[in-house]
Parts: sequence; structure tokens; C-alpha cells
Amino acid sequence: MADLLRSSLLAAASNQRLNRFVSTHGRRFGADRFVAGETVDEFMEAVALLNRRGFRVAAGLLGEDVRTAEDARAAATQYLAILDRFARDRANANVALKLTHLGLAIDPALAFENVSAVADRAATVGNFVRMDMEQSAHTQATLDIYRRLRGGGVNNVGVVLQAYLYRSETDLSSLAALAPNVRLVKGAYLEPPSVAYASKREVDDRFGNLIEMSLEGGGFTAIATHDDAIIERSIRFIRDRGIAAGSYEFQMLFGVRPKLQDMLLSQGFPVRIAVPFGSQWFPYFMRRLAERPANVFFFLKSMWRG
Ligand SMILES: Cc1cc2nc3c(=O)[nH]c(=O)nc-3n(C[C@H](O)[C@H](O)[C@H](O)COP(=O)(O)OP(=O)(O)OC[C@H]3O[C@@H](n4cnc5c(N)ncnc54)[C@H](O)[C@@H]3O)c2cc1C
Repeated sequence: MADLLRSSLLAAASNQRLNRFVSTHGRRFGADRFVAGETVDEFMEAVALLNRRGFRVAAGLLGEDVRTAEDARAAATQYLAILDRFARDRANANVALKLTHLGLAIDPALAFENVSAVADRAATVGNFVRMDMEQSAHTQATLDIYRRLRGGGVNNVGVVLQAYLYRSETDLSSLAALAPNVRLVKGAYLEPPSVAYASKREVDDRFGNLIEMSLEGGGFTAIATHDDAIIERSIRFIRDRGIAAGSYEFQMLFGVRPKLQDMLLSQGFPVRIAVPFGSQWFPYFMRRLAERPANVFFFLKSMWRG
């Protein structure tokens, strides 16, 4: 039942018609629990608040799978403005973007050009750009772009690997020579059994292994999860192996398990909160609902209340 609900919500996330309908006619239906506003000013208020409390931030301008080169360039331009704003306000924040927002599904060369421009601006202001990982159809192209950037001497970029994909362990090994800055996650999309593990136990096992491999690998590891067992396993490993403090951080999503976020921070661990903002919240929101069936009841309750 939970699996059926998850796959229905993830299928709905990429339904363009439903997206248009809900975004145009719908109210925010509780999406604001996970999204820090629609404008840069609203977003910057959330960033300032989190920074004051000691959290680092990763900014995500909501949007993905754009259909025109013009939209892709406009998204890149917005990222440039966000980086300038971070520099101006001295925010402790970097950016995390989706390559399909910068045109990957139209032409990988377009996405490369756009992400290069964003990374270039980030370098100018001493900042960093993370490329999120999307559906498995984009994994190879995303890693190719990451390698091409690093090969061209662009070092202020990072990538993401998803534990549910069979290929991720091999991908992590093959990136080792680059000492990559990698964010590790379980994986948020609907993937077929031909490419991804389906059972939670298997995904959790692989996730723990990937984290340990990466922590010992000499790069930077962002452990992105709200899972107590994975966090405890990671902390044990960090302490047992004496992993250097500056070589990892925990990452969590805005609005998800805030008490756990506070607890890790109070224990002295670095915690970065991924904070999305913008009007294109529908697919992001559907993925957050799919992660926890209880969120659906929360969503239905807010619809009912209006
Ligand atoms: C900073 C960050 C960046 C990410 N980037 C990517 C990416 O680039 N590509 C990608 O595919 N995925 C990404 N994800 C999503 C990730 O793949 C998972 O879907 C998501 O983190 C849920 O998995 P979990 O590790 O928290 O474990 P789970 O087993 O799903 O959750 C553990 C516990 O956390 C709580 N929880 C988890 N999710 C929610 C939620 N939405 N609402 C309320 N409670 C919740 C529940 O209590 C649950 O029992 C990212 C996640 C984070 C934290």
C-alpha cells in the first residue's frame, strides 16, 4: 500500500498537466512547510535565520526539466543573482541546482555552458555549486559534465550519488582520483528494478557502505539523510576512524525533522539545510510527500481546511 502510494505520487510529480492545474488553481496546500517562499527576499530571510542559528544553507531555485534554451539560460541567470546576493549579504550558503533546469534534457552542451557560467561566478565570489542528481536517465550525462568541469580545472563543484542505483558504488570508485565533493542520498525518484534496488533494507545497506567508502576516500562527503540509523552509523564511523572534521557535513531538507537538525548541530556537527524556493514547487513537493505517507494526510488536511 505504502509502495503504491509512493509510486503514484512520484508518477504525479512528472505529470505536466497536474503540475499546471495544481500550480495555477491550487493553493499551496502545505507546500510552504518544505519551501521557503517564492521570492528571493522571502528566501533570504529564511537563510539569515538559519545562519544565525548556526546552520549552513544550500539554495535550490525550484524548477526542472525546462523545455527551451531561453528558460534554461534564465534559470542560470537567476543563480548568478543568488550568488551575488549571498556575497553581498555574507550568507553562509552555496547553491544546489538541477541540470535539467539548466537545459540538460534539451542539450547537454547547453547545460554544460550554463553550469560553467554559474560555477565561474561562484568561483569569483568564493562559493560552491552542487549539481543535484535527478532521474537515472540523466545520471551518466550529469557525471560526464562533472568530470568535464573538473578536467577543465573547475574545482568548486560537487555532485550527488544515489544509494538506490546499482551503479553508484562503481561511480564513487571511479571518481576517487578526483577526491570529489560528493553528496550521498538514498534517491528520490521512481526507478525500475533494472537500475535500482527497491527494498528499504538494501538501499539502507548500500547507503551506509557508500558513506563509509566516501568518508575514507579523501574527498568531501555530504551525508544527506534524516534517517536516525544511518546518522548513528556515520557518527560511529567518523569517531572510530578519526575522520577529519573539515571533510564531511550532514545535510537535511528544510522542514524535515527540524528537531534532529537541532540535535546534530548542538552536538557540534556541521549541518547544511537544503532550502528550496520559487514558484515551481509542485514536483519537489510531490517527492517530499512520497517520502513519508503521513505527509499525505497532512496535505489532505490542509486542503480540507482550505
Ligand atoms: C540535503 C538533501 C539533498 C538531496 N538531494 C537529492 C538529490 O540530488 N537527488 C535525489 O534523488 N534525492 C535527493 N535527496 C532526497 C533523498 O534521496 C531522499 O529521498 C530523502 O532524503 C529521504 O530519505 P532519508 O535518507 O531521509 O531516509 P528515509 O528512510 O526516507 O527517512 C528517514 C526518516 O526521516 C523522516 N523523513 C524523511 N523524508 C521526510 C519527508 N519528506 N517528510 C517528513 N519526514 C521525512 C521520516 O521520519 C523517516 O522515517 C536529498 C535529500 C537531502 C536531505
